[in-house]
Amino acid sequence: MSQPKFKRIALIGIGLIGSSISHAARRAGLAETIVGSARTQATIDTALSLGIIDDGFLDAKDAVAGADLIFLCVPVGASGPVAQHISGAIESGAIVSDVGSVKAAVIEAMAPHIPQGAHFVPGHPIAGTEQSGPESGFADLFEGRWCILTPEAGTSATAVARLTAFWQALGSKVEVMDAAHHDLVLAITSHVPHLIAYNIVNTADHLERVTEREVIKFSAGGFRDFTRIAASDPTMWRDVFLNNKDAALEMLARFTEDLSELQRAIRFGDGDTLFKLFSEARALRQDIIEAGQDIAAPDFGRSEKSVPPKKG
Ligand code: NAP
Repeated sequence: MSQPKFKRIALIGIGLIGSSISHAARRAGLAETIVGSARTQATIDTALSLGIIDDGFLDAKDAVAGADLIFLCVPVGASGPVAQHISGAIESGAIVSDVGSVKAAVIEAMAPHIPQGAHFVPGHPIAGTEQSGPESGFADLFEGRWCILTPEAGTSATAVARLTAFWQALGSKVEVMDAAHHDLVLAITSHVPHLIAYNIVNTADHLERVTEREVIKFSAGGFRDFTRIAASDPTMWRDVFLNNKDAALEMLARFTEDLSELQRAIRFGDGDTLFKLFSEARALRQDIIEAGQDIAAPDFGRSEKSVPPKKG
């Protein structure tokens, strides 16, 4: 088994994902030192005060110097410019990875800036929440979740094995996959669902015959779960759609066709079709629970007690 310990881990971007990597890596004893860089001093100060990083730098090159494992944990659209900026500071033998939700466009943007002698192993942990920033990270985020690595052909097998061992030590299950396939799979499992959530929340918001007060008051139905997803960071999701355009459009076209089928069934009172399609969807939920990717507790695991008391 490859050894997943590193001397100096550099986190470029210390938000939800960067800080969670730090918490989990510290818990598993995977780094002698963890340093970080962010756009703002405020984020660096918060990360220092929470013990997420041992040292913080506004210039990402200073974090990267001497690091044997580098993670870019920034919005997908920033990956290329950040890689270009740190390029000269990346040391020979270092593993350079990322956590971006899109892979083909990120590889295209980053790969030209990874120097010879360093190992580029792109990745995407399929784990997250709608929160962002350094305070939102936690050590269990990756527990039992998949992490997909998308190294290009010819990448050092040793580097891939070390990063695999690292993610496994954080609690993840790891799969290696082609970047284009990753983008297609994630378009339907993550990207389009986020688009639907943003859209349904906006549609409700724009309604004239149902008041905003009613939308909020009666949101205990399915709508409430959409609002949680639609609370996700707009910068991150803007970048996802700008960088996974083809796969997102393809999946959206398929979704629209299937929606039309439901629409037609409703229009013509075709209960058999509605029942069949709803039953198929319900069975898939059971498969997800059996695969350990969610729990069967009612209301998505939320109890009445976990709903915060009303303010004011
Ligand atoms: P986040 O909490 O918003 O944190 C982003 C971090 O990147 C912050 O430290 C921010 O610095 C820094 N940053 C933002 N723009 C930058 C730029 N132009 N140049 C340099 N640094 C910049 O984001 P996150 O949720 O951790 O997401 C990071 C990456 O993980 C994204 O690529 C996303 O696709 C991927 N991802 C997210 C999730 C999820 O559920 N959130 C799941 C899997 C993968 P400041 O705080 O100083 O602005």
